[in-house]
Amino acid sequence: MGSEEDEEEEIIVIALDDDGNEIPEDPDEGLSVDADGVVDLTFGERDFRRMEYDSDDRFAIYKLMAHFREDVVREGRIFCAGAGALGNEVLKNFALLGVGELWFADFDDIDFSNLAKSVLFRPSDVGRPKVQVAAERLALMDPDLHLVPMSADIRYDIGMGVYRRMDVLTSVVDSVDARVGFNRIAAALGKPWLDAGIGELSWRVACWDPAGGACYECTMDDAMRYQQHLPYAPSCAPLAEAIKEIQRQPTSPLSAAMSGAMLAQEALKLLHHARMESPPEELEMPFGQQFYFGGASPYLETQVRRRAEGCEGHEHWGEIHEEPSFTAEGTTLRQLLERAAELLEVDPKAVSLRLGFDLIHELYCHGCNWRGEYFYPRRGLNLDLKCRQCGSEARPDYKRALRVMDRFVDRPLADLGFPKLQIFLLYGGKGRVAIELTGDEAEVMGVK
Ligand SMILES: [Zn+2]
Ligand SMILES: [Zn+2]
Repeated sequence: MGSEEDEEEEIIVIALDDDGNEIPEDPDEGLSVDADGVVDLTFGERDFRRMEYDSDDRFAIYKLMAHFREDVVREGRIFCAGAGALGNEVLKNFALLGVGELWFADFDDIDFSNLAKSVLFRPSDVGRPKVQVAAERLALMDPDLHLVPMSADIRYDIGMGVYRRMDVLTSVVDSVDARVGFNRIAAALGKPWLDAGIGELSWRVACWDPAGGACYECTMDDAMRYQQHLPYAPSCAPLAEAIKEIQRQPTSPLSAAMSGAMLAQEALKLLHHARMESPPEELEMPFGQQFYFGGASPYLETQVRRRAEGCEGHEHWGEIHEEPSFTAEGTTLRQLLERAAELLEVDPKAVSLRLGFDLIHELYCHGCNWRGEYFYPRRGLNLDLKCRQCGSEARPDYKRALRVMDRFVDRPLADLGFPKLQIFLLYGGKGRVAIELTGDEAEVMGVK
């Protein structure tokens, strides 16, 4: 402590019973500090955990939490999809709690309108990527945080191996389409995920469980399905923008703060379930349930959702086959298909890679007969459908599955638009296998 040596601090601890009355000090069971500075807190019937008092550790106080284990929180790896108003709240909470690794993604830049609701953004940030700015502000809160900001689309730009390595998946995106995408990822990996949405006075937080309970898609009605298919209509960007505008709901920083706090608390609970053999009993997870807060004449209700038979959101990919020598940049589509053929014991010609979305692989211009390669997910943003020769709009060709006969089969997977540490689902004969580009692991996840 150096020069502050003489500023001796006195720790006064008062124990209160459930009615808020002071519990008289028991001379036999008072506060004791051992030679290592470890404080033993035992008050009558109550047995507080031993606290290692370290003035350099800002999270030392969390060792006193009765429900959460500080060491579990410190080692946890949480993913958050979305860094908007709600994402700001959630990320801020995780940072204050000292979550070990915070991974978060958003492909949006900061708009002037975001400033009213986002605690981490400033006027000078307008036009910059949301995740980049959020990371800078979180680092100011605590320079020791392990932050991984990704300016990326959660469905197409992040390898599923990243999600597979997370303890907890949370999403605060604002579109039905992105929620369905995240639900499918969670289902494929057999993981639950936390979801939140906000209105002006109301908000909701849900714990979807594609593996065994109700999932997000179980709760979708026709109106939501219609919405799902609207936003990314290709070759119709002005319409998509207009629809986005109409769909923009009034929200407030108050509903974001309330739901962001609840989601963060559920995420901490889920973290204990993910990292502990037997998590504390009181940390019960509301799998397949949704909390809804109506703010007008305030009420909070727990909605138990039913798992819908035939719901398309439950497809679990089973065991993931790790391929340590495969990487996005160093492995071709042919090598991937041939490895699947070996594992499935079929001819490579019988293997197909199911994409789960339409992949644009080629553009053709009717105006000047130009034809060229262009690899991009059909539902992705920022489609560039211009003819590279005459500039008029070219027609894209799509594929939903890739095979060894494809003309681009000898291109590396990265050239086709697949991210590092991706997991692919391949079918052949009567079987199927999920193969991961595990060779990308060290680069993507970092060396711990
Ligand atoms: Zn479902
Ligand atoms: Zn042309």
